[in-house]
Amino acid sequence: MEPVVIVGSGLAGLTAAWALAPAPCILITTGCLTGGAASMWAQGGVAAALGAGDRPELHARDTFVAGARYGDRQVIDRITSAAPEVVRELARLGVPFDRTPSGDFDLALEGGHGRHRVAHAGDHSGATITSVMSARVAGLPSVTVREFSTAVALTTYGGRISGVDVRDEHTGMVQHLSTDRVVLATGGLGGLFAHTTNPVTATGRGVALAARIGARTDDLHLVQFHPTALDVGADPMPLLTEALRGAGAALLADGRRFVDELQPRDVVAAAVWEQLTAGRRVVLDARHIHQLTERFPSVTALAAGHGVDIRTDLLPVRPALHFSMGGITTDADARTSLPGLWAVGECSRTGLHGANRLASNSLLEAVVTGKAAAASAATFDDTWPAYAGADPDSVVAATDSTDDPTVLAIVRATLDTHCGVLRDGEGLQRAIDELAPYAATSDAAYVGWLIARSALAHPDSAGAHRRTDEPVMAATA
Ligand SMILES: Cc1cc2nc3c(=O)[nH]c(=O)nc-3n(C[C@H](O)[C@H](O)[C@H](O)COP(=O)(O)OP(=O)(O)OC[C@H]3O[C@@H](n4cnc5c(N)ncnc54)[C@H](O)[C@@H]3O)c2cc1C
Repeated sequence: MEPVVIVGSGLAGLTAAWALAPAPCILITTGCLTGGAASMWAQGGVAAALGAGDRPELHARDTFVAGARYGDRQVIDRITSAAPEVVRELARLGVPFDRTPSGDFDLALEGGHGRHRVAHAGDHSGATITSVMSARVAGLPSVTVREFSTAVALTTYGGRISGVDVRDEHTGMVQHLSTDRVVLATGGLGGLFAHTTNPVTATGRGVALAARIGARTDDLHLVQFHPTALDVGADPMPLLTEALRGAGAALLADGRRFVDELQPRDVVAAAVWEQLTAGRRVVLDARHIHQLTERFPSVTALAAGHGVDIRTDLLPVRPALHFSMGGITTDADARTSLPGLWAVGECSRTGLHGANRLASNSLLEAVVTGKAAAASAATFDDTWPAYAGADPDSVVAATDSTDDPTVLAIVRATLDTHCGVLRDGEGLQRAIDELAPYAATSDAAYVGWLIARSALAHPDSAGAHRRTDEPVMAATA
């Protein structure tokens, strides 16, 4: 068998490569091993029912409720049940999670969680976890790492994966890698929006690669806006972690509290947006938090880098695109609708997040799906049936995307304007019309167009998808 090709080296791709061993794989990634990965930026941590009195069923319930009751119950149960062992396994691999004096995991409280449930390594959990995993992977003889290599197209033969076209970022040359098994681990799509907390390289490439060859995608309109991105004119916007609000930071509009800060993100983001559009100045006040800089050293440094002192300053905030709940549709084995293609981490749509991700559930999802894909890819055979529900309508002729920065700028402005916290049909149609001319030649425009189309096709509000023109239900007797 040819080696599995894994595209992307954030936590999901690294986990897949690690779990595949000793089976060989080629890990290709746009930058260096951990560069460009949102996994490195995660501040909060990994949600798991590890605390006294907590249970996976409670974690599952919070996940379902935060997701506006739109998530897949079976998926939620499976992933939240796996969570405690995920954290323990990461700890065994060497992740130095914070501990209480008695040696238990120190668990943080974050919005939407009914319990202290987030295992963390200071406020730089993502970098710590991802660095441990990348060191593990780098030491594996079964993994061939190809840095500065970008997947630009997938190829199929007889309705199955047959290979990947990979561009060398140093030479610009495109080389075809022949393989019958590809794991997409390309991360999110926040970089398609002008205001985002994501690496600007997070442009939903995996969604484009998969959709262009007919793999099913779902819920692309369900994108989460983080309510508290630090509004200091930076791109991407520095994130003020949810854990700050969990520790007592207050949101103020023109000096007054206006929302319960610990409600799910969609609720808080919409409340912040309403205040901003009413012309009020919205700030996060963290000044009174005990041992603020000791507990939040990364946020302290991040803010200081932009001339803001979190001990003394009120922190100007606005919502910014943070996470994609939708993506490439997968089953419990992380299989997509296309035989030989798996999707893991944020580029996948597992059904865990419903219409709104619960805080700190995505590093968890990255590990669980990465392991599932590895187990499935290791035992891959020819019996994998194609999804009956594959959507031929979503297929646009495959092309070598141009990565044109001018087009990316148009996509970012268009989605920000018409596909933001609040949307309506007229704006969404405008977005579709503006992006359509570029969709065949630009993956960024193609994914933006798919997002807008999905949003237009869903006239009802659900979780993070808020339509201001949703039809009002006729009153029934
Ligand atoms: C600021 C911030 C804070 C966050 N905090 C938390 C948190 O506390 N807890 C939590 O659970 N989640 C958090 N998240 C979300 C979480 O970090 C991500 O959902 C998760 O890390 C995604 O992991 P991933 O492996 O799927 O993708 P990523 O970590 O983004 O990795 C994607 C990889 O794919 C590569 N790539 C992309 N396209 C290609 C291509 N065409 N060819 C080759 N390589 C490609 C990229 O270079 C990168 O290496 C946060 C996100 C952000 C942005």
